[in-house]
Amino acid sequence: MEVVIEDSRLKPILEKVEAGQRLSYDDGVALYQTSDILAVGYMANLVRERLHGSLTYFNVNRHINPTDVCVASCRLCAFGKRVKDPKAYTMSLEEVWHRAGEGWSEAVTEFHIVGGLHPELTLEWYCEMLRGLKNRFPQVHLKAFTMVEVGYLAQRAKISSREVLERLRDAGMDSLPGGGAEIFCDRVRRIICDHKITGEQWLETARTAHQLGLRSNCTMLYGHIENEEDRADHLVKLRELQDETGGFVTFIPLAFHPDNTALRHIPKTTGFLDIKNIAVARLMLDNIPHIKAYWVMMTPRIAQIAQRFGADDLDGTIVEERIYHDAGATTTQGLRRGELLQLIRKAGRTPMERDTLYHPVERTEATFTVLV
Ligand code: SF4
Repeated sequence: MEVVIEDSRLKPILEKVEAGQRLSYDDGVALYQTSDILAVGYMANLVRERLHGSLTYFNVNRHINPTDVCVASCRLCAFGKRVKDPKAYTMSLEEVWHRAGEGWSEAVTEFHIVGGLHPELTLEWYCEMLRGLKNRFPQVHLKAFTMVEVGYLAQRAKISSREVLERLRDAGMDSLPGGGAEIFCDRVRRIICDHKITGEQWLETARTAHQLGLRSNCTMLYGHIENEEDRADHLVKLRELQDETGGFVTFIPLAFHPDNTALRHIPKTTGFLDIKNIAVARLMLDNIPHIKAYWVMMTPRIAQIAQRFGADDLDGTIVEERIYHDAGATTTQGLRRGELLQLIRKAGRTPMERDTLYHPVERTEATFTVLV
């Protein structure tokens, strides 16, 4: 197919993509700067189909956020609350275990567990939570804790992040979701999340997790005060670590949602920027297998289109999403399995249900006794 390239800066990039060559930091900046979204999308789709053909992956998962109490007060966040905030909540262990079993639990293959940095919950409490979940739901993969939570638990317990990761792994944690990366650039981080671990510490925690045999995802928060150079730098840093460890499974670009945050004056991201971030990630992250269009943040409609702009994954059913809905996300809190299938099929893609580590999940629809 002959592609029409309006922006001449993209022509050498197209040649590299067609030859399967690695793109440079400067290429990344050019891709973020251009408005030629169709050319960028064409290239990203080329790579996506080279890697995955027409398959789009999804899973049946459930989010659990045990607490929204957080000591960090990041300006980017609408979820974390001070411990004395009357609206703050912290689940008991019994509540976490009960909540995990609610809803469409029969088909669930993954619990995605993240929360605030609670000043009183101990590492042992989290280990007990994981052991309780594993005892009750032995077939479910526990994808838990951002690198930021791991760093905070280490700081509180006065032990290394390595030791925290080992204790969590031994208690049942199977992988990490990769949140808290935001943007690695210090200048931006100081403004949007100055109480968090640094970008270097995030990368070091991911490195340690991978060395311990744990896989993780990785993320980037875009659409706030970062610029194109910051985004390209973030992707190059992830790519370098992946060259070293091979531990990242999926990259998830996360659109900033400003409502109810200290940065509420910043406009919401546009569909154009959301699609662009999917496509550039697919092109730059040549060593990370999967790029996810997280439908909660970019809406099911944009996520559906993203399947033609580099994304090969739509995330999952989720059931109950709190973090981005506290920040004004207007999407539903969960999608049924059938709705995900339709989003994929109507985009001309072939749905493949997966578990967290992308093993195919075989289903016979007739075996469900609950609606999924
Ligand atoms: S982004 Fe995370 S660490 Fe920061 S305030 Fe929110 S919950 Fe806490």
